[in-house]
Amino acid sequence: MMSLAEKLYREKTLPFEELKILVETEDDGVILYLRSRAEEIRDESYGRNVFLRALIEFTNWCKCDCLYCGIRCSNRHAERYRLSPDVILSAVEEGYKLGFRTVVLQGGEDPYFTDERLIPIIEEIRSSFDVRITLSLGERSRESYERLYNAGAGRYLLRHESITASHFARLHPPRQTLDGRIKALKDLKEIGYQVGCGFMVGSPFQTSDDITRDLLFIKEFTPHMVGIGPFIAQQDTPFASYPNGSASLTLKLLSIIRIMNPFLLLPATTALATVRGKGEIEGLGYGANVIMPNITPKEERRKYRIYDDKAYGGLEAAENVERLKWEVGRLGYSIPVDYGDSRVVN
Ligand code: SAH
Repeated sequence: MMSLAEKLYREKTLPFEELKILVETEDDGVILYLRSRAEEIRDESYGRNVFLRALIEFTNWCKCDCLYCGIRCSNRHAERYRLSPDVILSAVEEGYKLGFRTVVLQGGEDPYFTDERLIPIIEEIRSSFDVRITLSLGERSRESYERLYNAGAGRYLLRHESITASHFARLHPPRQTLDGRIKALKDLKEIGYQVGCGFMVGSPFQTSDDITRDLLFIKEFTPHMVGIGPFIAQQDTPFASYPNGSASLTLKLLSIIRIMNPFLLLPATTALATVRGKGEIEGLGYGANVIMPNITPKEERRKYRIYDDKAYGGLEAAENVERLKWEVGRLGYSIPVDYGDSRVVN
C-alpha cells in the first residue's frame, strides 16, 4: 500500500486499479504520507499562501432539477431571491475593501440573467474594481460563454459532478446529461477561461470506481481549479434521507488530487466546513490552497440553501476574514492580496 502511495507521488498518476486502492484505504500511515506529500507539493507550487475568493450567491432561482440540490426548481419551499445589480456591486465593493481581488458570481441556472443583463454587471465590476471575475452559472451556450468572457469574466466554475454517465444520470433528471456538461467544460476551456470542475464526495450511489474515474478525468482534463466537498442531504430534495459524505474521505481525496495535479487551485469548501468544524482550515493541511468566503448579504445567504445547515456565520463568512487570517497565520500560511491566478499551463 505504501509503495502505491510512493508510486503516485513519483508518477503523478496510477493505473485505475491501483488508484482505487488508495481511494479505498483507511490506513493512517498511508493517509499521513499522502497529506505530507500533498502539502509539500502545494508549498513548492504556490508557496505557503492561501488565496481567497469572495463568493456572491446572487440568485437562487434555477431551471434545473438536480436531485441533490436545495434550490432545484421543484423545491416549493425554497424562498427565492435575486440580487439587484446595485446590491451585487456593493457586495463587490465590500469584498474589495476586505482585500479580496477575485469575486465569484454564483447562482442557479436563472433564465432571468440573460447575457444582456449579465454583461453590464460584469463590465461595471471590471471598470470600478481591480478584481478578477469568476462565474458559476451552470450550463449556457458557447456563444453566451464567449460574450461573458469578452465582457471581462475570465474564470468559470462548473463541476462535472460525476464522469460516470450512469451515476450522473442518477443525480440529475434526463434532460441534464453528462455529454452536455462535458461539452460546456470543453467550450469554456477553448474560449480561454480558467476552468474549475469537481464533484461531491459521497453523493448517493457513488462508488469508489466512480471516484477513481473522476480523479483520472481531472488528471486528463487539466482544469485550473477543482472543487470537491462532501454531499450533504437537503430536506426538501429526493435525497433528503441519504447519509452525508465523509469529511475524512474528502480530506484524503484533496491530497490525492494535489499530488496528481501540482499546480491546481484547490479550495477547502464550505461543504467540508459544514460537516466538520473548521474544515476549511483542516483542508489546508491536505494540500488545499483556496478558501472562498461568502460575501452574499446575510438575509439572502440564508436562502441559498443548496444543502441543510450550510455554514454561513463562521470562518467562511467574509466579515470574519480577520479571524480567518489569524487562524491560517498561526499555521504558517499567509493570505496575499492577490488575484490568485492559476499556474496550470495547457
Ligand atoms: N448552478 C451552478 C452552481 C451550483 S451550486 C452550477 O451548476 O455550477 C455549486 C455546487 O454545489 C454544485 O456544483 C454541487 O456540486 C454542490 N452542491 C449542490 N447541492 C449539494 C448538496 N446537497 N451537498 C453538497 N454539495 C452540493
